[in-house]
Amino acid sequence: MSGPRAIDTVFIANRGEIALRVVRACREMGLRSVVGYSVPDADTAAVRAADTAVRIGPADGRRSYLYPPALIEAALGAGAQAVHPGYGFLSEVPEFAEICAENGLVFVGPAPGVMAELGDKVGARRMMAGIGVPVLPGTDGPVAGDRAVLAEAERIGLPLIVKAAAGGGGRGMQVVTDRDSLLSGYRAARVSAREYFGDDRVYLERYLEQVRHVEVQILADGHGNVLHLGARDCSLQRRHQKLVEETPGPALPAEVLGKLAEYAVRGAQTAGYTGAGTFEFLVVGTEVAFIETNCRIQVEHPVTEMATGVDLVREQLRIAAGEPITFQQADVEPRGAAVECRVNAEDPDRGFVPSAGRLDEFVPPGGPFVRVDTHAYPGWTVTPHYDSLLAKVITWGADRDQALDRMDRALGEFRISGAGVRTTIPLLRGLLQDPRFRAGECTTSYLDGRDGAGL
Ligand code: ADP
Repeated sequence: MSGPRAIDTVFIANRGEIALRVVRACREMGLRSVVGYSVPDADTAAVRAADTAVRIGPADGRRSYLYPPALIEAALGAGAQAVHPGYGFLSEVPEFAEICAENGLVFVGPAPGVMAELGDKVGARRMMAGIGVPVLPGTDGPVAGDRAVLAEAERIGLPLIVKAAAGGGGRGMQVVTDRDSLLSGYRAARVSAREYFGDDRVYLERYLEQVRHVEVQILADGHGNVLHLGARDCSLQRRHQKLVEETPGPALPAEVLGKLAEYAVRGAQTAGYTGAGTFEFLVVGTEVAFIETNCRIQVEHPVTEMATGVDLVREQLRIAAGEPITFQQADVEPRGAAVECRVNAEDPDRGFVPSAGRLDEFVPPGGPFVRVDTHAYPGWTVTPHYDSLLAKVITWGADRDQALDRMDRALGEFRISGAGVRTTIPLLRGLLQDPRFRAGECTTSYLDGRDGAGL
């Protein structure tokens, strides 16, 4: 962010439900919204809802949503003063934030230098360890070369996980449980890191088998205010990708939450963070370890919004305009429990590969304390070009059980049909009935361990 600047028009460099989410925030704030879209997205809900929509390129993301020149030209051409990057795509690419600034556009997110430090997982680990936050045993920096990998693995111990320094979205990680597969895991991780992130630097970290994933939402403005908005438990994952997220989560003692929140706030203060961000941790009992920071709005931000009443995208936009956060830590009082389920267009009978096709029927659930964030509508064709997220269903309840019962009711109301379109709803509903999930006992490996077990 390059300093306070009047903003009346926001360019949205993203697609899908998050583009629509930002359009809605803009509308409520009296800001004009401009959505950049690729050819197959011409007919999406965000394009329809925005004040203006500008075609930025073809289906291939590298020539549209990931191509700064097209985005900057569209933003400037539409008279925008700010760029909201959403999540994914260029949202955590410091060079893009830099390019925005060079073109006089306010990037809605932290300063490029802060993003570069925290977005690099090795850098973030180092910074957090330096301020007394526990991290798992691991390499000090990226590791390269067979001999170094073997030596480092010896020091760290098995099992371990090979991760991309530039990683995200649970992609490209390799868990290594025995010495014989160490080098092949290392090589595979490098190949996928290069493929996904164009950066093959990898590092090693001790792998914990039975952990919960707990993350802290923070908000920081350019006036020195850093607040946290509670935790989200995102332990329900498939192949390291989140499926169900909840707040406050089933098994988080107050002392652990307090510790995590304090670490996140300290991390944000040390880094000079501004905007909305998330600090992620692994938790076993009362032991915690920092794993990474996400320098952007997250898919699961609505659960925090439901419990706290804070509109995070609105706050992002206000902070980007140089305004201070209008409330204080003591004003943040999360109420009850909220849960989000990701309804993905995926085929459970074919290993959850993305499914595509025209939606003949698409009737989202409603009723009390149910929120659905989706860009889909009847007649829209689910495209195979991008991620498979079709809708996010978020429910609130006075307690966890009520939120989960309400979620089951809501998912049961969802009507989605169309040739070739399958969804994760049956999987999610199965989970909502699962006694171990209901008891709050699931760790991050739970679902993968149950593959083929009927879910
Ligand atoms: P990404 O940025 O790709 O999402 P993360 O570092 O956030 O990657 O990790 C994603 C998930 O992978 C975590 O939520 C957790 O389930 C698993 N994971 C990552 N690191 C470890 C570790 N050291 N031990 C056990 N599980 C891990």
